[in-house]
Amino acid sequence: MATAYLGLGSNLGDRAGNIAKAAALLRERGVILLKVSTVIETDPVDGPPAAEPQSKFLNAVVKVETRLSPVELLDCCQAIEQELGRVRTVVNGPRTIDLDILLYDRLAIDTPQLKVPHPRMFERAFVLDPLKEIEPGLLEELSDACRQIH
Ligand code: AMP
Repeated sequence: MATAYLGLGSNLGDRAGNIAKAAALLRERGVILLKVSTVIETDPVDGPPAAEPQSKFLNAVVKVETRLSPVELLDCCQAIEQELGRVRTVVNGPRTIDLDILLYDRLAIDTPQLKVPHPRMFERAFVLDPLKEIEPGLLEELSDACRQIH
């Protein structure tokens, strides 16, 4: 079994409902949720030019245990995004649900399809704060080398 941390975000529709459904769909697919952070409301970052200002996100981080490989876990996350109706129109634009693999064991993965640790996680308070809440000390444990991979 591997341990992974996933970031969940939603800024379209029933945001809290989308996060709850994503968690339920992870469970349905055999992913064991060990810890779930508080859901926090955050301002959009890295979004498209503000022609249409985006609404705020709800974000959470979950710690999971899984038999899925990293790529299988990514497939699982993308299938859930599809199932919940995420429409990719604009890069970093509004999304029903966004599921990111933040960390997978202590693996460093750098392929076009999948980068772990997630390349932008160390700059994002909406990832770091919930992660610290559910796993205090984890960030300090990650080596500087790990942080600098991407
Ligand atoms: P986004 O639109 O921000 O959800 O990005 C999705 C794309 O990022 C997909 O094409 C994934 O293959 C790719 N990707 C690379 N690394 C990761 C990761 N750690 N977690 C989720 N998606 C990733």
